[in-house]
Amino acid sequence: MAEKTIRLEVVTPERIVVDEDVRIVMAPALLGEFGVLPGHTPFLTTLKIGAMHYYDGAGAEQFIFVSGGFAEALPNKVTVLAESAERRRDIDVERAKRALERAQQRLAEEGKRQDIDFTRARAALERALYRLKMASSPNI
Ligand code: ATP
Repeated sequence: MAEKTIRLEVVTPERIVVDEDVRIVMAPALLGEFGVLPGHTPFLTTLKIGAMHYYDGAGAEQFIFVSGGFAEALPNKVTVLAESAERRRDIDVERAKRALERAQQRLAEEGKRQDIDFTRARAALERALYRLKMASSPNI
């Protein structure tokens, strides 16, 4: 008998990052990581910046960076709507380093300038740091 799977869709405003049958999905909700197996009770949650991972139909673990958004779990489907997302292998390390540097330069102006959106800069810093962490670690 074929092993049970669940459909995983990860979409951003720009593209479909994942659309495949998987065995289990783990994702970073605001209150902590959750896992979804086939047959899960429906729920909706908000995601934070972090790593989603799942086991694909062949049993290989796959990692996806997500920059926040929403996840909806149904018994046979998980849909993630993320502001941005990419597979770990697609993370551009030099780009993330540049984003980190820009964010650090902006944050260094905190308290001195009114024209910078520091909340936005902090979020950009967090995305860049997480991308760099994921790119350099085989486990996240
Ligand atoms: P940047 O300032 O470099 O655009 P950002 O954190 O503001 O970084 P996002 O808004 O999270 O970028 O993402 C915009 C798009 O660019 C998304 O499609 C995302 O997947 C992609 N992206 C951003 N940074 C990287 C990166 N370092 N490697 C691969 N793709 C990236």
